[in-house]
Amino acid sequence: MSTFQDLGLNDDLLQAITDLGFTKPSEVQEKAIPILLESETDLVALAQTGTGKTAAFGFPMLEKIDVASRTTQGLILSPTRELCLQITNEMKLYGKYCKGLNVVAVYGGSSIQDQAREIKRGAQIIVATPGRMKDMIKRRLVDISKIQYSVLDEADEMLNMGFKEDITDILSHTPVDKSTWLFSATMPREVATIAKKFMNNPQEITVGTKNESTSNVSHEYYLVNARDRYQALKRLSDANPDIFSVIFCRTKRDTQKVAENLIEDGYSAGALHGDLSQNQRDLVMKSFRNQQIQILVATDVAARGIDVDDITHVINYQLPDEPEVYTHRSGRTGRAGKTGISMVIVSKSEVRKIKSIERIINKKFEKKDIPDGADICEVQLMSLANKIHNTEINHEIDKHLSSINELFADTDKDELIKKFFSVEFTRFYNYYNKSKNLNVAEGSYDRDSRREGGRDFSRGSKNDSTRYFINVGGKDGFDWMKLKDFLKEQMNLGRDDVFKVETKDSFSFFNTENELKEKVLAHFTDFKHEGRFVNVEVSENRGGGRRNDRRSGSSGKRRDDRRSGGRRDDRKESSGNRGDRRRSDSGSKPRRSDSSDFGSSRPRRSRR
Ligand code: ADP
Ligand code: MG
Repeated sequence: MSTFQDLGLNDDLLQAITDLGFTKPSEVQEKAIPILLESETDLVALAQTGTGKTAAFGFPMLEKIDVASRTTQGLILSPTRELCLQITNEMKLYGKYCKGLNVVAVYGGSSIQDQAREIKRGAQIIVATPGRMKDMIKRRLVDISKIQYSVLDEADEMLNMGFKEDITDILSHTPVDKSTWLFSATMPREVATIAKKFMNNPQEITVGTKNESTSNVSHEYYLVNARDRYQALKRLSDANPDIFSVIFCRTKRDTQKVAENLIEDGYSAGALHGDLSQNQRDLVMKSFRNQQIQILVATDVAARGIDVDDITHVINYQLPDEPEVYTHRSGRTGRAGKTGISMVIVSKSEVRKIKSIERIINKKFEKKDIPDGADICEVQLMSLANKIHNTEINHEIDKHLSSINELFADTDKDELIKKFFSVEFTRFYNYYNKSKNLNVAEGSYDRDSRREGGRDFSRGSKNDSTRYFINVGGKDGFDWMKLKDFLKEQMNLGRDDVFKVETKDSFSFFNTENELKEKVLAHFTDFKHEGRFVNVEVSENRGGGRRNDRRSGSSGKRRDDRRSGGRRDDRKESSGNRGDRRRSDSGSKPRRSDSSDFGSSRPRRSRR
C-alpha cells in the first residue's frame, strides 16, 4: 500500500492532505492519481460512492493547473447542486495551500450573475451542473475554450438525469485535445457510449468488482402486501430505535406523503424532493446532517447529493424502476468504514426484481421477516434500559430527591423500575399489542388485508393509476427510459407522471394517474409516429404485475377488434368500483396511544 508521497503529489497538496487527516490513499486514488499525473490521458474510472473519487481527480487537477494564470483550465461536471457544492468545498480544502487558486461553483437556483462575476475574477477550476453550465455558455458568461481537463463525475447519474444533450453541448465548446476523466459507479451502455464519443483511447480503472455495491452494506428484503408497506416501514424503524436513515420512494408524491405520515405518527422525519424550494431542501438537509431528523424520505434525484457518513439504514420503500439505481441508494449507507443495512420492502409482484439487483450488486439479499409487535416492544424496552444505564446523572435533581423519595417510600426497586419503564413501554405495547403479522409467505396469494389501517398510497397502486398498453417497444428502439421520455414529451407531462414503464419487444406498458387517462387516450387517438400508427389503450391489468401483463399483452395484439364498443367505459366503471371498495376498507388510521407522559413520548420524536 502506497502513501500519498509515493503517488507523486507536491508539498502544498501533501500538507493539505495531512491537515485533512487522510493517512493513506483509497484504492481509486492509488490507481488514478499516478496515471493522471504521469500522462495526459483520458480516463474511465469505475468506483462506488464513498470511495474518494473527488480526491482521485481533484489532486491531479490541482497539481496540473497553473494557478498563476487566471484562465479557466479545469471543468468538473456533476449531476446535482449538492454534489457541485461538495466538490467545490473539497477542492478548496485540497488546494488551500495553492496560492491564487480560485474554484467556482456553477449551479442552478442561485444568481447566475454572481457566479459569472466570480468566474470573471479568474477561476482556474469551475465545478458545474450541466444545466446551468449550458445556460452560462449560451449567455456567453463563461469561456471554457481553453480547458485542459474536464471531469464527468457520477457520469451514470448525469445520464440518468437526462443531461446527455447538455453534456454534449458543453463539451463541444471545449478544445479537442483536452483530457477527459470520467468517473462513474456503474457502467451502463449510455456511459460507455459517452466514453466512446468523447474520449480518446481512455485508460480504464475499476475499483472493486464492477457494479458491486459497497462491501460493508448488507442487503435485506421484506415481503409484505403492497398496502402494508407503510406499516412495515414503521415497524422497521421502531425495531431500530437508533435508526438514522434515508427512505427512498419512487415519486415526489409518495415521498411527501410518507414523510408527512411519519411526522404525524410522531417520528422525526423530513421530506426531500424536487417540488420543494431550494431553501426548504437546504433546511431539511441541514437538520438531517445535524441528526435533528432521524428519517429522511427522499426521491432518487433529490438524494443524489446526500453525503452524510453515519447513515445506519437505507430503506427502499419502493424499488427503483431501474435496478442500477439501487446501487446508488444502498451506497448512502456503509460509508467511511462503517457498516450499513439496505432494506427493501417488496410486494409479491416485485420480488423478482430482487434477483436482478442481486446480479448487479453481485451479492445476495437476506430475506427477513418484519418484526412482530413483541419483538419491537422488547427492542424498545432494552434500548431504553441501555439509555438510562448510560445516562449521566444530572445533579440538579439532588435537591428534589427527598420529596421524590418520600413519594416512593413504599415502592421497592423492582416496582419502581417497572413503573418507570411503563411510562415509555406502555405506549409501544398498546400500539403493537394486537398487531398482525405483516409477512407474506413467498408463493402465497396476495389478498386484500383489512386490519391495522394499512395505508397504501404507493403510486400505481390498484386504485389510483391506470395502466396502458402501447404498440411500440424494443423493436422500435425504445427502452423504458426512452419510452418514458417519449411519452412525457408527447403529452407535455412532468417527470413523475409516467411510471411503471415496461418495454417488451413489440409492445410496452406504462402507468399514469387516473386523472390523466382522458388526456392520454385522446392524445394517442389517430396518432402517428415516424409514419406508423401508435396505439395506446387501457390495459386490463392495472397494477402492472408481470403475469397479467403478458395476458393483456396478447390481448393487446387483438387490439383492432376492440377499438370500439364501449369497452373502455366498461373497464373504467369496474376500476372505479374496485377503487372505491378498497378505499372504504382501509380508512382507519393505526391507533396511536395518546401519550400524556413526558413531553416527548416517542424516543424519536424530537420536534425542532
Ligand atoms: P465519492 O466521490 O467516491 O463518493 P468522496 O470523494 O465524496 O467519495 O469521498 C468520500 C469521503 O471520504 C469524503 O468525506 C472524503 O473527504 C473522504 N476521503 C477521501 N479520500 C480519503 C482518504 N484517502 N482518507 C480518508 N478519507 C478520505
Ligand atoms: Mg463523488
